[in-house]
Amino acid sequence: MLVIMKNDATQLQIEAVINHIESLGYRGIPIPGALRTAVCIVGNQGFIDDTPLLSLDGVKECLRVTKPYKLVSRETHPQPTIIRLKDITIGNKKPVIIAGPCAVESEKQALTIAHSVKQSGAQIFRGGAYKPRTSPYSFQGLGEEGLKILAKVREETGLSIVTEATDITNIELVERYTDIIQIGARNMQNYALLKRAGQTSKPILLKRGFAATIEELLMSAEYIMSEGNTQIILCERGIRTFADNTRNTLDISAIPSIKEVSHLPVIVDPSHAAGRREFVIPLSKGAMAVGADGLIVEVHNDPPHSVSDGRQSLYLEQFQKLMQEINKLNM
Ligand code: PEP
Ligand code: MN
Repeated sequence: MLVIMKNDATQLQIEAVINHIESLGYRGIPIPGALRTAVCIVGNQGFIDDTPLLSLDGVKECLRVTKPYKLVSRETHPQPTIIRLKDITIGNKKPVIIAGPCAVESEKQALTIAHSVKQSGAQIFRGGAYKPRTSPYSFQGLGEEGLKILAKVREETGLSIVTEATDITNIELVERYTDIIQIGARNMQNYALLKRAGQTSKPILLKRGFAATIEELLMSAEYIMSEGNTQIILCERGIRTFADNTRNTLDISAIPSIKEVSHLPVIVDPSHAAGRREFVIPLSKGAMAVGADGLIVEVHNDPPHSVSDGRQSLYLEQFQKLMQEINKLNM
């Protein structure tokens, strides 16, 4: 339930509402709006009688939230969430473009790619220092050395950084170095990691699991937000279907579906969806056409020799072409 406060409600009246909610054994989370504050009740399993709440000073009305996710729901927060990172805004019309290699391999590799993608117009650099790999024998990432390289990339290029925390044991270190913490598809339902991500002050890039429904994705985002972190970017990165022409199937309908029910920004990863670089530009254009707030794209200076995901990584010149195509769409 959402307790809507009157426009002129005082802080004391809001606190009295929260105290009342806590006396019922639930949590009350204030959501400040442009004109007034709403208090979202979380933790109840069923019906709450709104009569005592309506009698409290400063309360305008009580609205029932019909979705199982509350805080990430558009019912609770009708305005879109805009995430600000230095001079970048995510979810605010101008698409955000994140580019970089699948994995950080060396300082030289990361800097070469970063300078090039920046030149082409990317605002954020991606690169895994901890890699969740299907095989235990595949390259697992450079770990902290990779994080230090990412910090160097930021220092030299001014690009913001996103990199993945793969479990509860490395999120603290990742948090120290990065600007945005990525939670990958395989970890979308790692609830301990989600809760920990909810306690950081850094924005979270949450990728959809390859067999997860939209509702499950939003429930995972709810785990993060219920711990206090409201800065969440969702990412559609392809789901597993019977189609075997691509690595995954880009669920293009996920973008308007999520936007219909949630206020969070949604970006698209065409690289992991396609698994083939030839499809990255057309899928990116499709994603932008249906309202994505941006893209996260794998780019490499030497894809055939990339330690991971070379087949889906764009060459540097192809990324430049992608940016030109995206800029044309925005004219
Ligand atoms: C990645 O972006 O590096 C990655 C591993 O993607 P996903 O979690 O979507 O597979
Ligand atoms: Mn990859």
